Amino acid sequence: MNPSTTRPTGRFIRGRGRGGGAYRPYFYFRRNGRTIPAGGGGNTNAAARANFSGCRGQGRGATHNNYYTHPPNVILDSTFLRPECYAAPDDSHQAVQSYRADMPLPCPGWYLYFPQEPYKEESTLAQRIKAVEEHYTKNQNSYDLKQIQQDKWFKLDAIHVCDDKVLINVWPQLKEDMLERAQRTLATFAVAMHKVLTMDAVNSATSQQACDKNVYVPRCTLPRKIYVRPHGFAEINLISDLDRSLLGSLCTVRGVVSAIGIVEAAASWIAYQCPRCKQEQSMKQNGFYISRPYNCKKEGCRAKKNFIEQRSSPFTRITPQQIVQLQESNIQAPLDREFDSSNTLDVELRYDLVDTLVTGEEVIICGVIKIRTLDDEQNTNPSSSVYTSQIYMKAVSIHKAKHSGHIFTQRDMDAISMINSEPDSFKLLSHSVAPELHGEEIVKAGVLLSLFGGAGSQIHDEAEINVLLVGDPGIGKSHLLEMCAKISDRGTYLSGKHWSPATQSLTSALQGRTSDILTSGALTISKTGHCAIDDIDRLAPQQDILLQIMQSKIVSLPFHNLYATMSMPTSLIAAANSLRGHYDHSRPLTENSRLSTALLQHFHLVFLLLDKSNKDLDTSLTDHIKAIHDGIKKNTAIAERFDRKPKTNNSMNLSVNDDELDDEQYDLSVRLKLKIDICGEEELDLLPPILLKKFIAYARQRLRPLLNDEAAEALKSFYMSLRDKTGEEQRCNVTTSHLAGLICLSQARARVDFAEVVTKLHVRDVLCIVRHSIADTTLSDYVDRNPATTTAPTSQRGTVKKFIQMLELRAKALGRCMFNYDEIKDMAGQAGIACGVSNLVEIANLQGYLLKKGPNVYEVMID
Ligand SMILES: [Zn+2]
Repeated sequence: MNPSTTRPTGRFIRGRGRGGGAYRPYFYFRRNGRTIPAGGGGNTNAAARANFSGCRGQGRGATHNNYYTHPPNVILDSTFLRPECYAAPDDSHQAVQSYRADMPLPCPGWYLYFPQEPYKEESTLAQRIKAVEEHYTKNQNSYDLKQIQQDKWFKLDAIHVCDDKVLINVWPQLKEDMLERAQRTLATFAVAMHKVLTMDAVNSATSQQACDKNVYVPRCTLPRKIYVRPHGFAEINLISDLDRSLLGSLCTVRGVVSAIGIVEAAASWIAYQCPRCKQEQSMKQNGFYISRPYNCKKEGCRAKKNFIEQRSSPFTRITPQQIVQLQESNIQAPLDREFDSSNTLDVELRYDLVDTLVTGEEVIICGVIKIRTLDDEQNTNPSSSVYTSQIYMKAVSIHKAKHSGHIFTQRDMDAISMINSEPDSFKLLSHSVAPELHGEEIVKAGVLLSLFGGAGSQIHDEAEINVLLVGDPGIGKSHLLEMCAKISDRGTYLSGKHWSPATQSLTSALQGRTSDILTSGALTISKTGHCAIDDIDRLAPQQDILLQIMQSKIVSLPFHNLYATMSMPTSLIAAANSLRGHYDHSRPLTENSRLSTALLQHFHLVFLLLDKSNKDLDTSLTDHIKAIHDGIKKNTAIAERFDRKPKTNNSMNLSVNDDELDDEQYDLSVRLKLKIDICGEEELDLLPPILLKKFIAYARQRLRPLLNDEAAEALKSFYMSLRDKTGEEQRCNVTTSHLAGLICLSQARARVDFAEVVTKLHVRDVLCIVRHSIADTTLSDYVDRNPATTTAPTSQRGTVKKFIQMLELRAKALGRCMFNYDEIKDMAGQAGIACGVSNLVEIANLQGYLLKKGPNVYEVMID
């Protein structure tokens, strides 16, 4: 009998110990609508369902029946215990269990689409099908029948359908039906296409010659079920707006794929043939066991068993399915909402849509709203049921959002053109980035340019501008970063302080109970957008990933069963604290932060945010704080104002009349600073973040500015002067990536003004910002007054310079460049530098004057 000794014991196992029914195993339990034998193994679940090796109806003691004979060492697999993205039950409301699979001649394939009702010749549905069919045959060039036959799906464009007068005549409320009774309408369109395809296949089969000895003519193949992929019927909704009232209707949402489940394939219908009268019937499969027919569907036939599986019949259908999670990326979504579950939506993909998405991809998905229960069937007690359910979407068409931009309302457009007509929109925008951070106009301007982004070249669509803020703690870096994440159209905020590789991943990771759900991390979610990383220095173990992204915009994902590379063009806006709690000006940047030189090289702008003690600043800061808290500077709703303002769309910001000023003397920070007069600080009517976000998204979507000759010349001369200066100034080497960064920044500056051409004036602003950034990071003779760091050398700069000059002179005099460490130490001693030589060597090495060639061997670089 049953080898009961190997059976695992568990809390689920109950029932009679031995003996029992003919077709059911004795030990089973139900979960999510499936009957699962204890120890049967969830792993073999899908496979067993797919390969039709059903056991139902088999007598007890059948030797090949593996549900009775548990192999040894079977561990009770718990994969069926609802994973995070679990497969929703397949149309459980569809009560039809089986149907006669004959094709009514006037409408072939009818039961594939309408299994629950018979075909009636004179019904309105039949008339509609006929009209749709005519529509297909009339517009042969829009519907490629051969291709549809092969793909089993076709695109249905709203414009084509709604323009067809004949069709609309027969079916006036077509559009409403499509939106409200989506599944039935889609089935109508599909069955008509099925009919057209069948006719086409039959016609081509009868017109061609028959098989003979020399020529093989393939048999006419009947089409399988056809799926309709509608396009352009529903407006784009917000994910948070979807609710139960929309059940069964067609909706479109825009979002970023944040998690992907595994692909499951199962036979949903299996066709059987009667052994006596050859009548075919199709049985619905929705449990763990294969359902087999009990009787023949033909009247008068009394066959009860030995039905034959028809695996090649069009009525046998295997359904691959996959669940993905979508996170809202609609520009109209309100900003004040924290990340929560109302911003995400589970989407079920089927058939050809399966496996078409990758994490971090932005898509527009059209689908039917459905509901699923989260409760265990067994626990749902009708008397005291706490019935929890969740909305999900069954996708019917997927559209990549890469080339379809955001949709702006008329109100948005009015506000955008109003901002653009401000006398100095650059000032207004950069002050609106982080109103609570006082001063630091140049930093805000630099961050704003990063948010606008470069227009890219012919190879890349977008070009990233990476910004790094280094500074003392408590200056407001985190606040600035949070605002950036909010304002960017695809922004995420990541804090190195609360980050751990176990719980979050930067790129993508396999998660879930069985590690089969691919989730995306912060960098993947903000692909083509901005990732604001606070405390980037704490992500030290992940610096190679960050470096890889900044260098090549490609990241590789090594998983145990898959190796993938993903393109990840994400701009980084990062912040790092100074290493000793206080920034030390006498040391280079690499010694003040925990970031590697290679990583620092890839930031286009590096700013210092320091706690400078300055009396003027302090008084104005106090005023600023007072003003904010008194409510003077409240963000006035922009919509209120633009009724009164004349709408002059002055796209170029030419109100700056200091053109005559020399480039070197021009100071952007003065221009951007709020003017102070007798009544206090100048008041700017700051923009709310949502408007800023829309403005930036609009500019990014619309504009691809190109440099004119003057601007290119100005950039070139600045770059050349930078290259020349590297010898004297003590700074990281200037490379071509800096030139690319300069071009991107100039393009971003032009986008602020909605300009198609980058002019000299734009470049001037950018150069000013870049000069600030460079000045911030060069060594200075700034005397460090912080008592905590007084032990550090205060005026090392002069020593470094002297040391390098000495090395160069010696190298020239001796006629060789290679020295070992002892020689260098001797030379330094002769020049009067007694201590700290190893430190000097290190600094010279970092700055590229000394190259380490081997253990204790250095090469002096002479230019
Ligand atoms: Zn029969």
